[in-house]
Amino acid sequence: VPFLLHDFLKRAVYHYPEKTAVIDGERRFTYTEIQKRVNRLSNAMRERGIRKGDRIAVLSPNRLEMYETFYAAFQIGAVVVPFNTRLVPADYDYIVNHSGAVMFMVDAELAPLIEPVLENLSNVQTYVTLPVDGFETNADWLSYDAMIESASEAAVYEEMEETDMATILYTSGTTGRPKGVIQTHRSLYNNALNTIIHLRAEDDDVLLHTLPMFHVNGWGTPFSFTGMGATHVMLRKIDPALITRLIVEEGITVACMAPTVLNMIFNDPSIRQATIKQPVRVVLAGSAPPPSFVKAVENELGWTFVQVYGMTEVAPFLTVSHIKKAIRDENDMDRIHRLKAKAGMSMLMMEVRVVNEDGEDIEPNGEEVGEVICRSNSVMDGYWLQPEETARAIVNGWYHTGDMATLDENGYIDIVDRKKDIIISGGENISSIEIEGTLYEHPAVLEAAIIAIPHEKWGEVPHAVCVLRGGQTATEQDIISFCRERMAHFKCPKSVQFVAELPKTASGKIQKVVLREPFWENGR
Ligand code: ATP
Ligand code: MG
Repeated sequence: VPFLLHDFLKRAVYHYPEKTAVIDGERRFTYTEIQKRVNRLSNAMRERGIRKGDRIAVLSPNRLEMYETFYAAFQIGAVVVPFNTRLVPADYDYIVNHSGAVMFMVDAELAPLIEPVLENLSNVQTYVTLPVDGFETNADWLSYDAMIESASEAAVYEEMEETDMATILYTSGTTGRPKGVIQTHRSLYNNALNTIIHLRAEDDDVLLHTLPMFHVNGWGTPFSFTGMGATHVMLRKIDPALITRLIVEEGITVACMAPTVLNMIFNDPSIRQATIKQPVRVVLAGSAPPPSFVKAVENELGWTFVQVYGMTEVAPFLTVSHIKKAIRDENDMDRIHRLKAKAGMSMLMMEVRVVNEDGEDIEPNGEEVGEVICRSNSVMDGYWLQPEETARAIVNGWYHTGDMATLDENGYIDIVDRKKDIIISGGENISSIEIEGTLYEHPAVLEAAIIAIPHEKWGEVPHAVCVLRGGQTATEQDIISFCRERMAHFKCPKSVQFVAELPKTASGKIQKVVLREPFWENGR
């Protein structure tokens, strides 16, 4: 029996027909109502010529229509390609064409992002507007509401295999141009099961969609939590007052978010006041926070903290910071918070190893560093139209993450750095993240990035690029001395550059590849 992503919705409709499935502003729909709307959308897509394997691009923040589009497309075997909403027109030109999408669903507020490049999007045959109050819709485009209203409600399901393509998700482009990751029904189903198990999804859960559903971290929960009959609350924009209101009024029990958003909530006194002691499980994805932050969130907000580690290529999660029962029983909270700050233990249906350059497992002593590799049905089929990149990433069935980590005696992995960002100086491996941690302690430093630059004697040395806080000053020598008081000398930056701003991806990650460029003749 092939298990397909829309089976999650089917199950919810069967067992929880009258339960509220999606809340989006004033709109509330039960699972039965959602299924009918999805059927209509599937039929309308077919009427517009969409067939199995066709790509449907989506440019939208989290909203009801995005959720419905996933299921409507899957039911007819179409492939969903959600785009990051914070790119520039030239990026959309590249990825829309690269994906070969024939239908494009566009949120009305975001339409100006693609209007300058519309003429170049030669494959797209149908544009669909997702209406937004106060924003005009392009008169030549189909309206989503009209599509739903005019089509039949009859159920429609394409004959499919688990190995059929479900999505192409583009990576964040932190280390180069975004790559289109192909995920199948099987890989996403596999990860949805893992999310249910490890995030303990239940039918009384109310999930706040804080992470964008166009990003892989926010992508899994529309399936897993639907399958369990939970309720989804859409969040269009990161707005502290709105988040507070939703947490309290809708009784949110789970929220997945990026560290920057949690940081914002944590530092906003009104949110803290209102949501404190609301029993929220907060799931953090995207980068590792320091133990002190984990401790503060649990102690001061009263929330339960869970960290997950993953990437677009693995659909997405490899590990979760669950704490073994024996350790929990010790009740040593400092130790527990230290462990929760790590990426954690491998999930089920996921083989994770940390290996040295010869492919041998490193010692679990918390010291030695190796690359994280994994093997699972959740691993992508490959990069869309990039077979050489695929062959570099998946070797003998093992996906090479490009992330460097240590492994401790509990089997917890801790991400040290990206392989490309590690600095190899005089035979020592230096973690750029560790140096950045020290730079962030300097009172004048607002943001910092450490990159490797070439050096005659040492091969490479660390170079700091810093953004100073408004009104603060510091010299190169100040920064270097500050580091030397706190770290081994070989790890300290040898030079410091001050800039007004660091180059970042649309998901807010610093693009070191751009910073390194002027220092390396043929790339590094
Ligand atoms: P690109 O592959 O295009 O350069 P990207 O790797 O940033 O972009 P994503 O798939 O969005 O694209 O991000 C995955 C990466 O984010 C991981 O490989 C890892 O480096 C980092 N990451 C994710 N979760 C964590 C975590 N819990 N702790 C530390 N790092 C994390
Ligand atoms: Mg990556």
